[in-house]
Amino acid sequence: MTSSQLHIDLSAISDNYRTLHSLTRQTTKTAAAVKADGYGLGMEAVSGALYQAGCATFFTAQIQEAISLRAAFRDKGYDGANIAVLEGPHTKDLALYEAHKLTPVINHPGQAEALAAYQRRSGKRLAAILHIDTGMNRLGYGQDTHDLLIGDNSPLAELNLCLVMSHLACADEPENEYNRFQLEQFQNLTASFASIPKSFSNSGGIFLPPSYHFDLTRPGIALYGAMPDPAMQNKHLKPVVSWYADIIQIRNLKKGECAGYGAMFTAEAPTRLATIAAGYADGYARALYQPQKGGIAKVEIAGKHVPLAGRVSMDLLIADVTSLSDAELQSANKACLLGPHYGLPEMAADRNTISYEVLTGLGDRLTRLYDGAYAS
Ligand SMILES: *Cc1c(COP(=O)(O)O)cnc(C)c1O
Repeated sequence: MTSSQLHIDLSAISDNYRTLHSLTRQTTKTAAAVKADGYGLGMEAVSGALYQAGCATFFTAQIQEAISLRAAFRDKGYDGANIAVLEGPHTKDLALYEAHKLTPVINHPGQAEALAAYQRRSGKRLAAILHIDTGMNRLGYGQDTHDLLIGDNSPLAELNLCLVMSHLACADEPENEYNRFQLEQFQNLTASFASIPKSFSNSGGIFLPPSYHFDLTRPGIALYGAMPDPAMQNKHLKPVVSWYADIIQIRNLKKGECAGYGAMFTAEAPTRLATIAAGYADGYARALYQPQKGGIAKVEIAGKHVPLAGRVSMDLLIADVTSLSDAELQSANKACLLGPHYGLPEMAADRNTISYEVLTGLGDRLTRLYDGAYAS
């Protein structure tokens, strides 16, 4: 066990899955985005819990993630899972898609042609997802290729499409008119794919009206307990992750003594400091301490909030624990950096980012400990 631990509540992830599922239309199914190692929480553990909760479709970003997930599912005997890869297939990887039963997301006509050619050559047909861009201008058939979506000569006619999808750019802003614009685009562009299931909504889209839900939603961040935007009110989701780090030294400063890089913290009176074994290399952002404002982040030791005292360094933090009694300090050997006292949205807002970046930035040195019904 390393000096920093993430407690990940798999039951909360399962509960969030069921909650998100219940917020959509009766006939809508719920997939899961588990890219970037399950948003930093451990793709295998997270996906296993979600599979147990009834999730049958998993989205990764890259093919290597999907191959790992397939292997993990095979070990557990979870044979019913579909695994789709968002990045779109390289031609050279099509045999891997076939071998590992992965579903490529076809993002442009070149990929459709390559898959059609592969199928002709191999005599095999792969299930594939068609991604149509409706305004994000990132992945998917864009404006300039929309006319290639239809017509018998299109290689798409040769593909075994199991889903047509698009992605919302502003789903985290329910009032943004761009959502409606994209919805109309999606409805128009998919009219010729009437018999194929549709997928449109990420987490944010689930909180938009039911007309955004279609046949399959693809939540990511909400499964992990956070709303897509720190400003959105969270009435539905359970927090999933807490972060604890060992206190590895206590020291007493006299008035006028300094602490940390740049000697940014100066004791205004006799002060007691705790040195904590976590830093920016673990994903604890340096921006959480600002020399002018002091410690922005809330650290909790022995149930009390304590401020950061000095710069966040690579492997270490310093907290001012003067307010704790000797007994409190003796009983505490850990500091809670992220948890009920200071949640993901708050930490994200304090460092000027979104919960996604906080989660996916949590470092490899952190031991991931799983609680809940599906921990193994
Ligand atoms: C990451 C991703 C999702 C999940 O998004 P969240 O905002 O985390 O719910 C869904 N669809 C696509 C295409 C994605 O890239």
